[in-house]
Amino acid sequence: MTTAETDAVWQVGESQEPHRVLLDAGWSTLWKPAQGREGVTGADRIRELAASGYAALPIPQDFGGAGAGLVEVAAAQRALGIADPSAAIALNMHAFTVGLMVDYWKRHRDTSWMLLEGIAREGALVASAFAEPGGSPNFMSSRSEAVETTKGYRVSGVKYPCSLATTATLVCLTARVTGTDETLLALVPRSSPGLTVEGEWPSLGMTDSDTARLVLRDVDLDDRLVFHRGPADVIDDNVISGMAWFAVLLTATYHGVLSGLLDVAYQGAAKAGTFGPRTALLGRATRELLALGGTCRQLGADIGSGAIAGRAELAAAVALRASLSDTRERVLAAVTPVIGSRLYGRGHPAAALLVDSLAVHHHPPSLLTCDEVVGAVGTGREISFDPAG
Ligand SMILES: Cc1cc2nc3c(=O)[nH]c(=O)nc-3n(C[C@H](O)[C@H](O)[C@H](O)COP(=O)(O)OP(=O)(O)OC[C@H]3O[C@@H](n4cnc5c(N)ncnc54)[C@H](O)[C@@H]3O)c2cc1C
Repeated sequence: MTTAETDAVWQVGESQEPHRVLLDAGWSTLWKPAQGREGVTGADRIRELAASGYAALPIPQDFGGAGAGLVEVAAAQRALGIADPSAAIALNMHAFTVGLMVDYWKRHRDTSWMLLEGIAREGALVASAFAEPGGSPNFMSSRSEAVETTKGYRVSGVKYPCSLATTATLVCLTARVTGTDETLLALVPRSSPGLTVEGEWPSLGMTDSDTARLVLRDVDLDDRLVFHRGPADVIDDNVISGMAWFAVLLTATYHGVLSGLLDVAYQGAAKAGTFGPRTALLGRATRELLALGGTCRQLGADIGSGAIAGRAELAAAVALRASLSDTRERVLAAVTPVIGSRLYGRGHPAAALLVDSLAVHHHPPSLLTCDEVVGAVGTGREISFDPAG
């Protein structure tokens, strides 16, 4: 039996081990991911999770959802991140987009409730397509083009990488309105004529996240499904709300992935017979995750209660996103000597978690811009997500 086979019996999931009692405290969720069935992965696993109530989690109870707030959805994301990193990062896109839609409805009390009701009824998933080939450090600008028509717009462009590419019912996307400096944010049905999935995303990790290339060729977009329109550098309530939901849920997701890695480190150290210098290294990794988790939950609670808002909310969300990346590196540095070369072993669960957690650096807002944004808020200057600006 190889080391990888022996170690594969280690279960990453719910645990009563002392380090997990410490780390899990405060993360409370009624929704927990069902155990995956043998051989069910990728798109099928994502569909099963969506149907198990996940898709409707943040939708108000009046519209058929579970009415979970940001902190509870974050706890669900963390539970999913421990159990299934790829599915968690894919469903994170749905959770943040629907969370933003719920927040939009709360601010506008318009007909968007009908969409929310439909999503809850069908257990439908919503993808979020911002990224485009060649990189997009300014997530608020887009190379996809939207040409005005009598009923709305006709959109063409390429969105890549896009998770939930084949499993989503709706796609939330950005496009530049041709001939203007405006970018719009809108929903289109995944089954729209002209919208196709052409090729997967050849990533090293998060390989079961249904992430692929979406191509739009003259896709009709109904004006009623446009819920934000404005110059790419204007930061309004939608941008702030979207960033806040995204940063908190992303952090909770990777907190789960890193908690899973820490499980492996603790279990390996216990097998060694004596903890020795491993105790302090495990302690260091644990305190990093304790601090990150506490900050993440507190920011979620402050956003929910309105204790933080506007530019401060945006800066705190961007700060959390950047600190998440820093924490991932510090946790990895601490657990590397504890786990040893198994962390570098092909097929080993720890190595898979190492590569999955590396994806944390490649989400918006780009790490090229985070400190600049926080500094701009701190010094009372204009905020820009454009590294060139
Ligand atoms: C697991 C996972 C799932 C994701 N799912 C989604 C999703 O569902 N929807 C979505 O919108 N996004 C998704 N993303 C994409 C992510 O949000 C990033 O926005 C996207 O990958 C762009 O990042 P980037 O690092 O390539 O580019 P940027 O942040 O734009 O650039 C970073 C650096 O790379 C350089 N660079 C970029 N491209 C090139 C190139 N071709 N040649 C040379 N240098 C280059 C830039 O100049 C810059 O210095 C996902 C990412 C991950 C990791």
